[in-house]
Amino acid sequence: MPLAPSSFLLGNRPKPSDDELFSSWLIRVAHSQGLKLQTFCQLIWPNKSIWNRDCDRCGDAELVSSLASMTGTPLANANATLLTSFQGKLFSDIVRCGHTKWILPLGVWHRMRRRRGLQFCPDCLAASVPYFRRSWRLSLYTVCEEHKRYLCDECPQCKSPIHPHRGEMGDRHKTEPTSVFYCPFCGFDLREAKNDGHVPPDLLAFQSYHSELLRGSALGPQGSSSLKYFTFLAHVLTLLASQRERMRRFCELTSEASGIAITDIKFEPDMPVYFDALGIPERTRLLQAAAWLFADWPARLRSLMILGKLRYSDLILELDDAPEWFLSAIRRPERYRVSLLPGQRAFRGNNECTSEDGFPHPAISEPEALQTPHDETLALSDHLALSKASGK
Ligand SMILES: [Zn+2]
Ligand SMILES: [Zn+2]
Repeated sequence: MPLAPSSFLLGNRPKPSDDELFSSWLIRVAHSQGLKLQTFCQLIWPNKSIWNRDCDRCGDAELVSSLASMTGTPLANANATLLTSFQGKLFSDIVRCGHTKWILPLGVWHRMRRRRGLQFCPDCLAASVPYFRRSWRLSLYTVCEEHKRYLCDECPQCKSPIHPHRGEMGDRHKTEPTSVFYCPFCGFDLREAKNDGHVPPDLLAFQSYHSELLRGSALGPQGSSSLKYFTFLAHVLTLLASQRERMRRFCELTSEASGIAITDIKFEPDMPVYFDALGIPERTRLLQAAAWLFADWPARLRSLMILGKLRYSDLILELDDAPEWFLSAIRRPERYRVSLLPGQRAFRGNNECTSEDGFPHPAISEPEALQTPHDETLALSDHLALSKASGK
């Protein structure tokens, strides 16, 4: 008969590392006892199904508290390893049966994962204590801020989604716990994944700002909550890849002005989770386009509205509880000049933000009230041509 997990302390008691994901911590605890993960789980929780669901998202309270108790970890630290810890900051509530905004879907099927819902940084896994981060389960993250490289979301060799819990599963001759950085399907060492190229500083700064918001060390625009900001950001990302006829021009103009190709990004049919179901390259481009839009807020958005002949109602469709700084930005844009210049301001992050409204961008001045009639507004292509000719 197994011992009650709360009645003893394990010999080795690893604590959760910084930003560690619950499943990753559980794997490390099992391996630190010299046991295979499945053996450890069977010994301690013989009646629990752990791996045929998303245990990081759902968070079995008994499982978490017993692991905390066995390892002498404060319960609050153990709970912080779950994705529910983003509740109230990134999303209002975890959806138990269904999709939760910003969480990459795993597509759990039995003990397999059919979707690329867990990302990783090869350099982080090469550190002395390899572990998986909570932030690697979020669609908001596409780069490693520490190593300034893109994250990966599949085994580079066999293209399987990442399954750190399957390290020793299905091989009865394998009795030693294997490390989490080997692909369980082809044996590829994930630390060897090649670097996919240079990360633009604006993308890095944009993500750093989001990390600060989640840590509580920064505020949203005009002092708004991070939840309000992230709800708004999700809406903007949906607009940027919208398939609605009236929004196509908006996407084309954004692509043209920012130099970031977003018009070919299509959400998966029958997959109503939109941005969160996209791969890293597509999410990266949409996030960059949002960063570009915010870098001269609200002038760029107003200009795009004028040039794309968009109405106020086009931009607030399906947005509940829109923040006032967004609504005021898109009210009667025709009162303002088109002030769109291609790529002249890169996003520089919150630390350098000096604007009075607290919006995450370098200080800008509000466009003056329009002095010229609306029909004299330059078409964006003309504007770009003029900028080029004048050497701006
Ligand atoms: Zn890294
Ligand atoms: Zn593989």
